[in-house]
Amino acid sequence: MAIKYKEVILPERKKIVLIAHDNKKKELLDWAVLHSDKLADHELYATGTTGKLLERETGFKVTCFESGPLGGDMQAGAHIAEGKLDLVLFFWDPLAAQPHDPDVRALLRVAVVWNVPLACNRSSADFLISSPYFSCEYKKQITDFSVYKGRKTE
Ligand code: PGA
Repeated sequence: MAIKYKEVILPERKKIVLIAHDNKKKELLDWAVLHSDKLADHELYATGTTGKLLERETGFKVTCFESGPLGGDMQAGAHIAEGKLDLVLFFWDPLAAQPHDPDVRALLRVAVVWNVPLACNRSSADFLISSPYFSCEYKKQITDFSVYKGRKTE
C-alpha cells in the first residue's frame, strides 16, 4: 500500500514537553537554564516533578501533567496523538529500570508515529534548539492515516 503524507504546520511558538528521569533531572535543568532565553518563546509542558523543578529553576510557567510513574508520560503521549504537543525533550535514563517503562516506550513510540521532533539526550537537545525551525514555523510531513483508518478489516 502506497504511503501518503500530509503537511502539518508547527507554529513559531511551540508547545514543548520536557521530561527527565530522576538521574537526569539535573542535566535537563542545567540545559533549560542555559537555554532559557530561547525556551521563553514557547509554551512549556512537563511531567509533574520535572515541571515543578523547572518552574523553580527558570521561573517559567509550566503546565504540569501527573508525575511520570503516575501516568504523566501517557498524558504527554495522548497530547501528541491529539496534535497538542509540537516537540519532546525527554532525558530518559538508560541505566536505571523504571516502574513505568511501558509508558516511556509508548510515549517514544507515539512521538515517532506523529513525526514529532524528539531529543532524548543533551546533545540532541542542543541540535534541536539551535535549529532555525526551533523558533520559526516548520512544515512537517506526517503519514496520512486516512488510508490506514479506512482499511477493510473483514
Ligand atoms: P517526573 O516524571 O517528572 O514526575 O519525575 C518523569 C518520568 O519519570 O517520566
